[in-house]
Amino acid sequence: YKRQPNYVPPPPTQNEDYIKNYEQTTDMVNNYNREKQMNNSLDDMYNEIILDHYKNPRRNSKLSGDLLETKSHNPFCGDEIELQLDIDKNDNISDLSVTGRGCAISQSSGSLMGEIIYGKSVIEAKRINEIIRNLLKNEDVADNDLDSLGDAFALEGVKKFPVRIKCALLSWSALIELI
Ligand code: ZN
Repeated sequence: YKRQPNYVPPPPTQNEDYIKNYEQTTDMVNNYNREKQMNNSLDDMYNEIILDHYKNPRRNSKLSGDLLETKSHNPFCGDEIELQLDIDKNDNISDLSVTGRGCAISQSSGSLMGEIIYGKSVIEAKRINEIIRNLLKNEDVADNDLDSLGDAFALEGVKKFPVRIKCALLSWSALIELI
């Protein structure tokens, strides 16, 4: 007979305390398993979004004309991001381009940023930048702030890997330089 990992022995007697304790333990194990399952599917969803943006980067066609431009470099990982912004007279980001090379997190973060700030006002883009930073610093982020991130909320998964936060923030630091 092989012991199951989450096996809780059944109550051998009808002792009331024992039964109560048994039920509580069973609840605890069930809750733990439910939570673990939820976290796993959240991780899967984060990974799926990040890989999708890495393989199919959005807003990565170079622009020409009178633009704001910058290049950022993360020496720890060798990541590079080039950001071009076209800001119209109403202070809206009317067009942009994010290109670069490096690890999946840096490049997908650039793509996620391009997707969410395209068409936004400079003020909105600054706010989104702030929310992303708070998210990666593991600070509390309000639900409606999370909603305003679009798919970029998937970058939250990076906070579990502190050494990769610089990768995730590379494009967002480039954005701060320009707006
Ligand atoms: Zn990197």
